[in-house]
Amino acid sequence: MKVIHVSTRARSEMVPITAPVQDAVREAGIEDGLVMVFVPHTTAGITINEQADPDVAADIIHTLDRLVPWNGPYAHEEGNAAAHVKATLVGSSVMVPVAQGRLCLGTWQGIFLCEFDGPRSRQVWVSVMGPSRAK
Ligand code: ZN
Repeated sequence: MKVIHVSTRARSEMVPITAPVQDAVREAGIEDGLVMVFVPHTTAGITINEQADPDVAADIIHTLDRLVPWNGPYAHEEGNAAAHVKATLVGSSVMVPVAQGRLCLGTWQGIFLCEFDGPRSRQVWVSVMGPSRAK
């Protein structure tokens, strides 16, 4: 398993991590298989969406902010209940097929760490599964 370290810069943001995930796939030496990208955090998530136009990520963040306001009638006393709810809405992992050593993503797709209680240091755990390339 490879660990990617991400420093986030805002309370809520989507950080593109496609390139480091592709690096992890290359380092694993898997030709055809699957990669699982997982966040071990309760106030961050992982998603796949458009990476070409950064306005899409901004729209997602702003829409989640409207759906799940920071201040609300929450019971969780830490004060970051909205971040926990958003993390559950987004999910904590994605799986992507790997073929010929490359992530099989659609033309416009990218993988994002979704920060909902930043800024802080986050980890992304990347597990590449499949038969190793013949050496
Ligand atoms: Zn909390």
